[in-house]
Amino acid sequence: MGDRRCTVTLRLGGAAIREDEHDSVTLIERAEAALANARGNGIDGSVPERGAVASELATELELAIERGELLMLYQPKFHVRRQKVTCAEALIRWRHPERGLIPPIEFIPVAEEAHLIDRLTLWTIRQVIEDQRKMRSLGHDQRLFVNISGQLLADAVFVREACALVASSGATLGFEVTETSVIRDPVSAIANLQVFADIGITIAIDDYGAGLSSLAYLKQLPAVELKIDKLFVTQLTSSNRDPLIVRSTIDLAHALEMEVVAEGVESHAALALLTVMGCDMVQGFLISRPVSIDALVAFLDDESWHQGGQENRGPFNRLAPTWKRG
Ligand code: C2E
Ligand code: CA
Ligand code: CA
Repeated sequence: MGDRRCTVTLRLGGAAIREDEHDSVTLIERAEAALANARGNGIDGSVPERGAVASELATELELAIERGELLMLYQPKFHVRRQKVTCAEALIRWRHPERGLIPPIEFIPVAEEAHLIDRLTLWTIRQVIEDQRKMRSLGHDQRLFVNISGQLLADAVFVREACALVASSGATLGFEVTETSVIRDPVSAIANLQVFADIGITIAIDDYGAGLSSLAYLKQLPAVELKIDKLFVTQLTSSNRDPLIVRSTIDLAHALEMEVVAEGVESHAALALLTVMGCDMVQGFLISRPVSIDALVAFLDDESWHQGGQENRGPFNRLAPTWKRG
């Protein structure tokens, strides 16, 4: 339209009725239900209006996937007792030709609304598999975690395609999903998480504590890792309430035989407190900002060199000044 590119999406729902039934109301009801189902938007099936900016961004995002403007950064997760990086989380960025680096918070919601999140996430998984191959060829075999939007947990086509990609690649991956994404459609979310777990994908509960907590679902999930939201971690040493919440969350997760990751660890004081509380892993600017795959490999090289007994100083003292900048 003019010089703007628009994407038209078509949704179809089908309904059938026997010839002798003569019941047009039932037929219309079934057709409406089928259409709502096709829209994948629950009961009323209405697709929200998108603002002009979001709509333009959605159109550009579709092109960005094709043009290779998306890139993955990696943030290590440091195992406190083992004193080493045991895995890393993949975080997406969009290198926009005019707007520069766009953070995920600005385009992931657009991708979800424009139903591009499945393609974007499949791209992500492919990229992470490729990056893990590179890491392995350079002697590092850490598990890499991908963030999976809640709406994909109810998308059977996505689940099938993601499983096919991961299973055929031999990659060692993990998926991070938020607890709220499970509450939306618990039956299919739990079933699909089990499908992922069955092919060896580690499931982590992300942003724990930030949304509506659902203890009832927590124990039904095939999750082995619980990530405490950074909301509680960044204020850990200056708040009265947060240490209590973090402490009880760690105990709860351990009772459910899960490992706990604290995200948003920015200070030595927070790390010390988390260590005393028995937190298993830490992630945050103190250890490293999200970095490119090459920088992650350099980080791991550096870490294994120092663990070879060349130097005894704690990894945090050594690494923070270098890696904090990302
Ligand atoms: P998240 O999964 O909770 O990721 C953690 C966010 O906290 C990241 O922001 C990370 O850069 C930031 N962070 C890490 N350490 C610290 C710290 O010490 N202090 C503070 N204040 N922040 C820290 P980022 O990369 O901007 O990602 C934001 C969110 O976007 C992610 O939150 C995740 O929900 C989403 N996201 C990122 N990549 C993807 C993706 O590939 N797919 C999907 N569906 N969502 C993604
Ligand atoms: Ca995450
Ligand atoms: Ca998180």
